[in-house]
Amino acid sequence: MLTIYCEHITKRTEYIFDVVFNYLIKTPYKITNSKQEFTESNNPKFSYTYEGELNIIPSALLSQSSIKQNIDLTWHNHNNQKWLFKTNGELLPFDVFSSIFYLITRYEEYTANDNAFDEHGRFLLDKSILTNHYQYKKPLAHIWAAELKQKLTDKFPQIQFEERKYSAELTVDVDQLYAYKNRGVINTLAGILKKLSAGKWKQCKTQVNTILQRKNDPFDNFTFFKEISKEVDLKYFIHCGAKAKNDPRFINSNSNKKRIKQLAENSKVYIHPSYKSLRNSKLISIEKEKLELIINKKIEHSRQHYLVAKLPKYYQNLLKTDIKHDYSQGYVLENGFKTGMCIPYPYFDLSNNLKTQLTIHPFHVTDLSILKNEKNLQDVYTIIDQIKAVNGTISILWHSDLFALQNSSEKWKSILLKIVEHATA
Ligand SMILES: [Zn+2]
Repeated sequence: MLTIYCEHITKRTEYIFDVVFNYLIKTPYKITNSKQEFTESNNPKFSYTYEGELNIIPSALLSQSSIKQNIDLTWHNHNNQKWLFKTNGELLPFDVFSSIFYLITRYEEYTANDNAFDEHGRFLLDKSILTNHYQYKKPLAHIWAAELKQKLTDKFPQIQFEERKYSAELTVDVDQLYAYKNRGVINTLAGILKKLSAGKWKQCKTQVNTILQRKNDPFDNFTFFKEISKEVDLKYFIHCGAKAKNDPRFINSNSNKKRIKQLAENSKVYIHPSYKSLRNSKLISIEKEKLELIINKKIEHSRQHYLVAKLPKYYQNLLKTDIKHDYSQGYVLENGFKTGMCIPYPYFDLSNNLKTQLTIHPFHVTDLSILKNEKNLQDVYTIIDQIKAVNGTISILWHSDLFALQNSSEKWKSILLKIVEHATA
């Protein structure tokens, strides 16, 4: 058991010690603000104070309870690695706790101007401090925590650390179950007429052939995903919203419901709240309940359609609807580590200065990054290798309709297979 002396134990220090010692380096610990208890303890120990022979000197960040602008975020070099919050302590010359806290709470999003967000409200990568020397390409929180682990091991070889196990998951957004199937007579005829008047002959032919069951629906790749699920943990996020700007129509027909129920028998089926639910949070519950009724299971996992996760409102809304796990933290068009993390961890709401019941599951790799530039496939492998090195969980984001939209279904299936093969090798 490691003993840590901390003069002012705050909600932030309690939270970050929990994340660092229970999630990142996994070793039992105890925090005390009693100098006597600390002095008398025979455990391996260090102090998180300005003085003390073996210490990490705190920056001001964790003793505060409000969100501050103008935090010094200068990068420093140490042991071939970039660090924040230089404080020159004996155990580590950086405040590793403030550094990890800053990254994983997404502090920079709370202090950013409106121009740091795109038209949907998504934080722009080029406005992040992590663009400095491509720090977003590394699992920084893990790397910093590993340095702390090394320093503790050097001083106290008797400390035991539990090893985490590497794992891989494939998370699939199902914006629309089918392109043409089960849409009803009126919608189908309207769709065909629209395509004819726009001169989209090829699409029109595919639609007719799908309806006549001469061809498989182009969005119906669920048999392919089922095969992959033998190799990797598969999670579907299903959009159940109504037709609106940036939202497809969810068709609540018996055959569609039956199909979703089948998916839930073999894989995990979670909610993909509509774009409209960002403006009307009641829709999250309505859509969630609709899906729960279909699969006859309670749903506590979610990923927002369009990946809009504006903090803190978005997570506060999820918590009100009994969602306990979110998968929206990652870059839309880039592979990397938006929170510096590659394991699930509890979300700390900076606006209320509180640890919450919500668990964040960051994702690291997306189909859209490869769609943007196929050379990014190499980058995907590098990201996977880094996650393997820290025994994290690689989370791959894919869209169920991507194969159809790309008009080269086989090629894109083989790309996904290569990624899964690398992730599970
Ligand atoms: Zn979506």
